[in-house]
Amino acid sequence: MFGGQHHPHMPPHPGMGHGPPPHHPGHPGPHHPGMPPHIPPQHHPPPPHHPQQPPHHGPPTMQQRQQQQIEANKNNKTMSGKDRAPSLGYCDFCLGDANENKKTGTAEELVSCAECGRSGHPTCLQFTENMIISVKEYPWQCIECKCCTLCGTSENDDQLLFCDDCDRGYHMYCLVPPIKEPPEGSWSCKLCLDRFQQKAATNRPPQPAASNAAAATASS
Ligand SMILES: [Zn+2]
Ligand SMILES: [Zn+2]
Ligand SMILES: [Zn+2]
Ligand SMILES: [Zn+2]
Repeated sequence: MFGGQHHPHMPPHPGMGHGPPPHHPGHPGPHHPGMPPHIPPQHHPPPPHHPQQPPHHGPPTMQQRQQQQIEANKNNKTMSGKDRAPSLGYCDFCLGDANENKKTGTAEELVSCAECGRSGHPTCLQFTENMIISVKEYPWQCIECKCCTLCGTSENDDQLLFCDDCDRGYHMYCLVPPIKEPPEGSWSCKLCLDRFQQKAATNRPPQPAASNAAAATASS
C-alpha cells in the first residue's frame, strides 16, 4: 500500500524520499528500497562433463603375457645382445637329434649354441651334470663361438678357461685375481662356486670321505 502509490496531494514524508517508511526507524542514512541487490553474474555451469574413461589396454592377461614375452626374450638373446640363433636340430657329434642320441640310442635333449645354432647332446659334449643344468640358464656358446664372459671377446682363445660347471669361457687374465697358468684338474668359475659349492655344502652334511666313490670323480 505504501510504496508504489503516489498521491499528488499528499506531500512526501520528510526525509523519506519516495520510498516506503523505513522498516527500522532508527536506521541512519538513506534507504534505497528499489535498488536491486547486487547479484554477481552467474557463471555458466561447465558443459556436461563426459566421464573420461581410460583407454582400454585389454584384459590384464595380455599385459601378463607381454611381461612373460619380455622375460623370455632375455633368455633368447646371446651374450652380445643378438637374437639367439635357431637350433640346427641335430647333434654335431653323433648326428642324431633330440629323439635319438646315436651313441646311446636314447632320446636326449639337445643343447644349442646361442650364436651359431650348432647343437649337441650333453653326453656327446661330455657335459657334467652341473653343466647340463647351467647351460639352460644362459645363452650357451659352442667351442667355436666361445667368448670370455668377462670381456665379451673371443680373442686370445689360448688364454680361455672353460668352467667345468657351466662351460662359460673366461680369459685367465680377465679373472680377478688373474691367473697365469691354467689350473690343473677341474676349475669352476665364481658363479658356479657360489651356486654349486654352497648348494652342495647345504645339501650334504660334511662326512668323512668314504670308500664309495663320488660319481663326479669318474674318469674315462
Ligand atoms: Zn650326440
Ligand atoms: Zn656356436
Ligand atoms: Zn676376457
Ligand atoms: Zn661356471
